[in-house]
This record gives sequence, structure tokens and C-alpha cells, in this order.
Amino acid sequence: MFAFSPQPSAPGASAFLSSATAGKPAPEQSAQSLSQQKSGQRLPPLIDSHCHIVFRNFDDDLDAVRDRWREAGVTALVHACVEPAEIPAIRALADRFPELRYAVGVHPSDTGHWQDDTSTVLREAALADERVVAIGELGLDLFRQSNLDDQLQVLRPQLDLAVELDLPVIIHCRDAAEPMLIELRSRAAAGRCPAGVMHCWGGTPSEMEAFLELGLFISFSGTVTFPKAEDTHQCARQVPADRYLVETDCPFLAPVPRRGKRNEPAFVVSVAERVAGLRGESLEQVALASTANAQRLFRLPVDVV
Ligand SMILES: [Zn+2]
Repeated sequence: MFAFSPQPSAPGASAFLSSATAGKPAPEQSAQSLSQQKSGQRLPPLIDSHCHIVFRNFDDDLDAVRDRWREAGVTALVHACVEPAEIPAIRALADRFPELRYAVGVHPSDTGHWQDDTSTVLREAALADERVVAIGELGLDLFRQSNLDDQLQVLRPQLDLAVELDLPVIIHCRDAAEPMLIELRSRAAAGRCPAGVMHCWGGTPSEMEAFLELGLFISFSGTVTFPKAEDTHQCARQVPADRYLVETDCPFLAPVPRRGKRNEPAFVVSVAERVAGLRGESLEQVALASTANAQRLFRLPVDVV
């Protein structure tokens, strides 16, 4: 899948990471300057709706990474969370970067980090900081795992917490569309299905329609730039204009032409460019739509965007 080895900052946040070779930051020409060269005009703001810049992969050059995302026109970032232990470090990033908002939650590949008091830890973290804009990343991942019951035991209290706190969820769903739909549909029937986004979308068009019916957003990552990702291409063409976001999920999944290298927030421009190409729209239209959608879903204050 990806040839880059992320080094999670928090101890233990490594269960879901698989890797081949360590990646080095790619030699950079800022995405903005690339597109500015093309169009000569400033891009509308972009939001990277999913990133992990807390990972150690960014320890050496995070200021340069920041300069590049700001130069690229990325005016807000939503930082995902994979386990409670990393929340203090993510909060410190929000102190450092005023454009950063974050989520708190436990990843489906990190169920081992779920303790009896985890719901309380997440609730208190969310109530203590208005920069917490979502619960996640949470979900189901049956790509290399088969512990569905364990994953459901960690998923359900987080969905309950999101409803309780009236926060959206950031959903990680890999090779698990069916059990995820069963869970969310039963909640929707009971009026307890939170708003949210299917991050790093990689499903089929019919699966996408099913999640859209539940009111969820669809977020495209670097995978939309991969030549063989035909289902994702079709979903990018088909998704309603008011229901999609763009993201990096950095350091993972760097978009073409940087595939296999470390990903970073500035590269979300390449994702937006590809979505624009697939939809037959301008980069500006995609930037405006995806930013307005992210602002609406995460209720981001206007001064952040
Ligand atoms: Zn993620």
C-alpha cells in the first residue's frame, strides 16, 4: 500500500502501521507556487481535513512543513487521533499552530489502548478544549485484522460519546463497509447516528451512496491520484458538491507525484487538483466546495479559514 514508515509519536500507536522502507521528505517546490505558476492567482483556502503531524516523522522539520502548507493556501487542518496517550502532544500542536483543530479518539487498529476509563478521558478532553471538533479517528478495519467484536466494543462507546457531545465523527473504514453500515443504520433508526466523514475514502460507488444516505461526508486522500483507483475516481466524479472533503492523512499516502514519500498538509493541493480534473471543475471550485463542507461539518470558526 504505502512504502513509507511512519514513526508514531505516542508509545503504542503503532499497531495499525505497516511499512516497507523509511521515506525521506521529498525535495519541495511548494504546491502553491506550482499552481500559482500555472494560474498566477492565489488559490482559495484549502482545509486538510485529516492529518497526523504529531508523528515523529515531522520532528525534524515541522516549521518548514508549516511554512509550506501556509504557502500552499492550507488555512486549516484537522488533526486525527489514534489513541488517548497522544492527546497532550496534539493539544500542544494546537497551541503552536492556531489553524489546527483536532479530534480525540481510538483507532480500530489500536483497540488494545481502550481502557475502562477511556470514554471519560475522551469526554474530558473534548469538554476541556473547544479546539476539539470531532471524535475520531474511529471505525472498523478488517484489512489485516479479524477482531470485529473487539473493534465494535471500541467503536460503539465513541459513537455514543459523539452523539452525547453533539460532535461529528471521523470514520476509518477499511474492508468493513457492511458491518459499519449495519451499525450506523441501526443507530440512524434509533435517532442516534452522529454526523461525520468517511475519511480516506476507498470504497465503491454503491457503498458511497449508502453512507451518503446516512448523511455522512466523503473525504478524498492521495489515493484519488493513484492511477488504478478507478472506484475512487468514479466516487469523486459522482459525490454531491456539498458532501466531500479533501485530506492528506499525512504522513501516509502521499499523492502522485510524490507517492511513497512522506506526505504533508501542503500536498492536499494535489488531491484537490485531481478531484477537480475528475469532476471537470476548476481547482478553485473544488477548494471552495471542500473548504465550505469541512467548515460546516466541523463547525470551524470563520477566522480559522
Ligand atoms: Zn488517519
